[in-house]
Amino acid sequence: MPDIIQLLPDNIANQIAAGEVIQRPASAVKELLENAVDASATSIQLIIVDAGKSLMQVIDNGKGMSDTDARMCFERHATSKIKKIEDLFQVRTMGFRGEALASIAAVAQVELKTRRAEDELGTLIEVENSTVIKQEPCVCPVGTNIAMKNLFFNVPARRNFLKSNAAEMRHIVEEFIRVAMAFPEIFFSLTSNGQEVFHLEAGSLKQRVLQVLGNQQASKLVSVKEEMDYMNVSGFVGKPETARKTRGDQYFFVNNRYIKSGYLNHAVMSAFEGLIPKDSFPLYALFIELDPSQVDINVHPTKQEIKFEDEKIIYAFIQAAVKHALAQFSVAPSLDFTLNADIQQLDALNKPFTEEKQHTASGSKLFSTFTQKHQAHAIEPTNKSELKHWKDFYTPAAPTPEGNNIPGIQQEADMLFSYEKSYGSIEQPAGTQHEIQHTQRNNSPVIPDSPLLQLHYTYIIATAASGFIMVHQQLAHERVLYERYSLAAHGKHIPSQQSLFPATLELITPDAILLQELLPDLKAIGYNIELFGKDSFIIHGTPADVAAGNEKHSIELLIEQFKHFTSDVKFSRREKLVRCMSRQQAIKAGQSLSQKEMLTLIEELFTCTTPNVTPTGSPTFIEFKEDYLDRMFGK
Ligand code: ADP
Ligand code: MG
Repeated sequence: MPDIIQLLPDNIANQIAAGEVIQRPASAVKELLENAVDASATSIQLIIVDAGKSLMQVIDNGKGMSDTDARMCFERHATSKIKKIEDLFQVRTMGFRGEALASIAAVAQVELKTRRAEDELGTLIEVENSTVIKQEPCVCPVGTNIAMKNLFFNVPARRNFLKSNAAEMRHIVEEFIRVAMAFPEIFFSLTSNGQEVFHLEAGSLKQRVLQVLGNQQASKLVSVKEEMDYMNVSGFVGKPETARKTRGDQYFFVNNRYIKSGYLNHAVMSAFEGLIPKDSFPLYALFIELDPSQVDINVHPTKQEIKFEDEKIIYAFIQAAVKHALAQFSVAPSLDFTLNADIQQLDALNKPFTEEKQHTASGSKLFSTFTQKHQAHAIEPTNKSELKHWKDFYTPAAPTPEGNNIPGIQQEADMLFSYEKSYGSIEQPAGTQHEIQHTQRNNSPVIPDSPLLQLHYTYIIATAASGFIMVHQQLAHERVLYERYSLAAHGKHIPSQQSLFPATLELITPDAILLQELLPDLKAIGYNIELFGKDSFIIHGTPADVAAGNEKHSIELLIEQFKHFTSDVKFSRREKLVRCMSRQQAIKAGQSLSQKEMLTLIEELFTCTTPNVTPTGSPTFIEFKEDYLDRMFGK
């Protein structure tokens, strides 16, 4: 038998590695922008054609490269930023892995022109499939001009995976903003298909933040600034009135690197506690600076998730800094004025950090009040497991044959796990649903004309032929709306109400791009929204069940939910929208309902094709069978 192991050729190895670094045009944009920043550029232009699918080009006036470096930079693990492993713990540059350009050269056609100030001539290099196909001296300005053409031209499978131009462009804009926000002293511009989308003059951080978030926010920002030996935090939070229903403008930067951190976000949210409504999001752009040895940015290839040496200290510090800022600007109750003194007492924050200090600090009273209640693991995940108790509570009902729509608890519990796979998946052929709807099946177990009882403004008790059922009003309504919107999305007309006073909606650019993308689908389910200038929309009409005056809020909420929609199953955009809409518009628990409303809800529920569970698989009602009740009473 011959030996079978071979080394992969470089270009293949690079292509595979590229999978981690370059997932989509936006990830290439991020790398190119960061390289320009690392090269100390003061002007960085980003040029995009076709949402990056045809062209992504970054032109900087940074330090440029020698002709040898220009050739070297496309090699894997080629970097000027670290030399030995210890350097990894002191990195101050954005890049350091030396993988970006090698990855880019493996999956696109790259043209690089670069010149250092000390060289008279620059270098032109063309690379394709990880192979240099041209290298020659050229006349060009100092700095680097790198163009990536036809992303994934040689990996069609990945090219096919790219989303619509609007979706990819939205990601690009997000990455652009994240880099531009962190470096206000650098000029940035973004041009897409020949149109300048951003033109950000160099200036102060506040100016940059306002350039990105919109000048109308100027009077609504409160600056945050706290300095300790261990770390600094600076930046801005919005006054409580700027809190929105969508999460859009929330940015954390650690040593100028944008990061995602649910944990630190929670610290800010908790500082706002009591100042803003529960389901709204304050705006913030916070910059944390600390010794690079206290963070590990190496945990994620695109470096968006990082690990802190001691997260709890950072949590407490951020929370205190934000509270302090809000208090100073008298937007928080005055009691918080004492907070500054408290922060000072927090030993660990004032003195150089040692393990011993860390210990005493964690014992201090202030520290424990900071951390006990607010630390990440104290955030309860939504507790789906309660459903298990229901299952324990009942003796399993005899399995009901498929198609027989008398739901038993056992069946419901089982459906929790099989539902998404079988029914919940994507787009049903329109025809089948219409037919079902026309036959107006009514499998209601409820005895007609029997009185209905609402408990805790949440549950409806109805007498059934074989016992009683307990309906969860919110979940039941979610099911009803889900089926209604699904039909609408597949062409069944849904009544739309014309707004008397059309509301206008201003969004941040990435959200505006998303909404534009959703417009046709929103139209299908009864919204009439029109683009009105850059990033603004007019809402002319809404589905009949959206309360007047609530149009703007409902769209903001929808965008928010849409962005954060999570599911193990991959849904079409339309399906996601329908799911978000039905969740959002469902009557909530805690709302008092009249007899008539309860009756309508129950009638509508039992004309649904799948009345017994919500689209996500929660039961909408539970049936208490008479024989079971008898048994409970020992009869
Ligand atoms: P990394 O940034 O992790 O070092 P890259 O693959 O992004 O790796 O870049 C490789 C090297 O190429 C960098 O270390 C840098 O020396 C050089 N380089 C890349 N882009 C530029 C640029 N715009 N200007 C000057 N040098 C650059
Ligand atoms: Mg880099």
